[in-house]
Amino acid sequence: MIQDSRAVDELKHARTDLVVANHILFSTGVVDGFGHVSVRHPLRPDRLLIARSVAPALVKLDDILELDLTGATVSHDDRGSYLERFIHTEVYALRPDVGAVVHSHSPSVVPFGVVGDSLLRPLYHMASFLGAGAPVFEIRDVAGDATDLLIRNRELGAALARSLGKADVVLMRGHGCTVVGPDLRTAVFQTVYTEVNAKMQVHAQALGPPTFLSVGEAAATNATNASQVGRAWALWKAQAEPLCAALQAEAAGD
Ligand code: MN
Repeated sequence: MIQDSRAVDELKHARTDLVVANHILFSTGVVDGFGHVSVRHPLRPDRLLIARSVAPALVKLDDILELDLTGATVSHDDRGSYLERFIHTEVYALRPDVGAVVHSHSPSVVPFGVVGDSLLRPLYHMASFLGAGAPVFEIRDVAGDATDLLIRNRELGAALARSLGKADVVLMRGHGCTVVGPDLRTAVFQTVYTEVNAKMQVHAQALGPPTFLSVGEAAATNATNASQVGRAWALWKAQAEPLCAALQAEAAGD
């Protein structure tokens, strides 16, 4: 019985944090009307929590759905999730270490996906998770040159997950990027700092060839940053909270 209530609490906490994550990603400018974030189900590793197909800034607790790893909505809920949900399902299937996934069209990141070998690399310590540089997923390699660039099915999701490999960030040519982390807060942190790093890298490259973090520096800094994620989350949550509260109040009044 005690175990049951702990499980209920854990699920409730995961759902609440996921709503907050949606609002943080909007208020930090990483997503607009498009983009989505998911978290692996805390009690069922073969499932995930993600919103129904709605703009991130409008997500409320009631919008959170549970999906299995085929992308089907579990439980009797006929509201569908995002068309590109296969990004999430296939990454969870391939990477047991991943606890959360963010897909966005992060505006400063997109250019790095379209210029061949100009890698997005860690310019400063906050983006150390970029390691040796973010791989690029080329959809033409798996689906030809006439797709709409979206990850519409499991096959495309699996190909994207393979491109991600062991990295935390994969750029999607002509589309956006996908960022993962061991937990939701880290995935959000890494998504925000991928955008910040991209912006700074463009500035740096206009001045001259940048010196990026070495692989050793990136690894050491990454270990340091892991203990600081909560600090950024607390700030971003406070910034995003008025919007969350307004939406929940509106929902309660429905
Ligand atoms: Mn997309």
